[in-house]
Amino acid sequence: MAELIDGKAIAARIETDVAEGVGRLAREQGYVPGLAVVLVGEDPASLVYVGRKSRKTRALGMRSIEHRLAADASERELLGLIGRLNRDPVVHGILVQLPLPAHIDSARVLDAIDPRKDVDGFHPVNVGRLSTGTGGLVPCTPLGCMRLLDTVITDYRGLKAVVIGKSNIVGKPVAMLLLERECTVTVCHIFTRDLPEIVRGADIVVVAAGHPALVRGDWVKAGAVVVDVGINRITAVDGSSRLVGDTVFDELGHAAAITPVPGGVGPMTIACLLSNTLEAARRAIGPATGHVR
Ligand code: NAD
Repeated sequence: MAELIDGKAIAARIETDVAEGVGRLAREQGYVPGLAVVLVGEDPASLVYVGRKSRKTRALGMRSIEHRLAADASERELLGLIGRLNRDPVVHGILVQLPLPAHIDSARVLDAIDPRKDVDGFHPVNVGRLSTGTGGLVPCTPLGCMRLLDTVITDYRGLKAVVIGKSNIVGKPVAMLLLERECTVTVCHIFTRDLPEIVRGADIVVVAAGHPALVRGDWVKAGAVVVDVGINRITAVDGSSRLVGDTVFDELGHAAAITPVPGGVGPMTIACLLSNTLEAARRAIGPATGHVR
């Protein structure tokens, strides 16, 4: 039977570590890390995500600064707010909740965030740092995938990793992180030919396609480790709905280890966001100087 990688428990451990780190920073240097979350409009899912992030931020002892703009706020208004947050010394992390309304150019907005405060890791400077292995802030979901893999893999060198999905927020950064660990990485996408055959060669499979039941049991070799990033809501004939990933979970008993959906990658994303915020605060503040502000 495949080992279940318990994302909920691993995320809880990361959050405990973050809370300890926040406490130490406050005691030793008198700083409280601050995360600003910007929401434009009233998208119901985004409201839930933002609320959850703010509550968790406060629960770990950090300052949560929420900015809500009306759905018809102009791009200029949003860029003005980001400029102020970039300059605000109590803000160490800035997160703009996506998607933004269609009249706003998301790329321009993300580019305006100070890369040192870019806790989502989407700024081109951080993307470049990731691809050159030079220590920027790493996107939260890919970082979460690696933390899960780290619980079952100690030596990545030479392992064959297949990543399904090439988005900027999951697939590409995960591929970069696996490459950084010296895996041999194949990135697949909707136009990839012979996908099952490619996946069969993998020691590590990370699937982030947003396609329920894409990866079947006979695609995965015995002893592989599978990380399922997909979150798909499916509705049964009786009208009830549930979340499933991109794999057929019940067919993967022969894998060495797998992540469930829900309870796998999902809880890791917020945990990694908070750990990125602490990291950004530590870098902004620098080494302990002995005096408290
Ligand atoms: P996306 O739509 O931006 O990208 C999907 C990628 O998968 C594309 O590169 C596409 O070519 C590829 N793809 C789609 N169908 C495919 C198929 N049949 N065969 C091969 N490749 C296929 O999606 P995304 O933003 O990267 O998200 C992917 C999934 O991960 C979604 O289900 C999303 O909800 C989930 N997600 C989860 C978290 C989390 O916190 N757990 C975070 C982000 C995204």
